[in-house]
Amino acid sequence: MRAVLYGRVSLDRSEGKSVDDQLAECRAWARREGWRIVAEHRDDGISASRYAYGKTRSGWQSTMELITSGKADLLVVWEISRATRDRAVWSALLAPCAERGVKISTGGRVHDPGDPDDGFMLDLGAALAVRESVVTSKRIRRAVASRAAEGLPHGKIPYGYRRVYDPETRKLVRQEPDDTTAPIVREIARRLLAGEATYAVAQDLNARGISAPRGGHWDLVQVKRLAISPTNAGLRSHNGEVVGQACWPALISEADYRALVDKLTDPARRTVRDGSIKHLLVGIAICGVCGAPCRRVKNRNTPSYMCFKGFCVARAQAPMDTYITEIVIARLSRPDALELLASPAEGEVSEAVARLTQLRTRYREFEAEAIAGRLAAASWARIEANLTAQIKAAERQARPRGLPRALTDIAGAPDVRAHWDGLTVPQRREVIRALLTPRVMPTGKGTQRFRPESVEIVWRQG
Ligand SMILES: [Zn+2]
Repeated sequence: MRAVLYGRVSLDRSEGKSVDDQLAECRAWARREGWRIVAEHRDDGISASRYAYGKTRSGWQSTMELITSGKADLLVVWEISRATRDRAVWSALLAPCAERGVKISTGGRVHDPGDPDDGFMLDLGAALAVRESVVTSKRIRRAVASRAAEGLPHGKIPYGYRRVYDPETRKLVRQEPDDTTAPIVREIARRLLAGEATYAVAQDLNARGISAPRGGHWDLVQVKRLAISPTNAGLRSHNGEVVGQACWPALISEADYRALVDKLTDPARRTVRDGSIKHLLVGIAICGVCGAPCRRVKNRNTPSYMCFKGFCVARAQAPMDTYITEIVIARLSRPDALELLASPAEGEVSEAVARLTQLRTRYREFEAEAIAGRLAAASWARIEANLTAQIKAAERQARPRGLPRALTDIAGAPDVRAHWDGLTVPQRREVIRALLTPRVMPTGKGTQRFRPESVEIVWRQG
């Protein structure tokens, strides 16, 4: 019997035996059974699951070549999960083995893939290996995802921050601005926004002897990467998508962060995949089941919002965006939009709103007169300039304090829909965020069509 030995260990090395140990054991079996070893192949630090994207297992490929070319009669592995944790790879192995009568030896036993009973045992072992890999992968992703959704820090400490641990339990208490590096982050943001070249900023930091985030010198890329990190604005991102507010304080405002992203990233080939730049409701819509923010996914090829933490709810993106947009426009088009947004204590604001409504009415009346030719052009020009100034002033006073500028601007706009159409996605998001929270409620099984009643609107005020 010509035997090919294969050993593998994944990167986390949490799977027991080292490759050397696996192969040593396989060699011992071969000696015991009197098999002739024609080749030994190995893959170190490579997962055999389909979650290990983009890594080729060259040892495995060489093994498969020996089997398919009829140069081996037996594959020896320490256990089935060493061979594969992927169903497709498993079928690709079994077919040529059964065809050419190649046996598989694992755990000291020889299996014949051509024999129904042996084949069944092999399939079962492989199915268990696949399941284990899916469970592990899900467990890891869930843990990371839930920390991300809760806005908790994980992974490397971002530049500009430090972490405070409980001296007794050694648990993370908080992530807070670092006295030394936080001012550097702010300085970089300020200088780039003021129009300084990224290169010049890097040069200056180097000249001052300030070391880069991972030590060494600053270069263009490092300055840029730091400037466009959502972390600085107190935003939590996961898999490159901003998923909501983080639990740490911001070093720069969200507006400055957006401005930096706009400035430093070429829209044609953005290096950051910030879902909140393109998608209206990422991190704004929340799951009606567990309360986690929604991210954007492709659900059966349909772009959708899906609960970030689990898979509680999902809703098609396009109808959901349209629905929320229409609600916002309808709400802000009401003549009392600003008044409703203002808190009752803000008496001045309601007064200013009343004055604004009056001024706008007068403007339209004069305008109608001018159009009808009952008002001299020169007089209209004077009246128009005067009224416009008064309207502008009233608009400023009519802005309820404590509300984002983006919201008060659109609420006071003469044509809300036109104003909305002129806004960027981040600006629209700011308006929505200040106004309402869509809660994506679960629907029954098999519901395909978007139903507005499946999204609950939680108003912020008014
Ligand atoms: Zn959920």
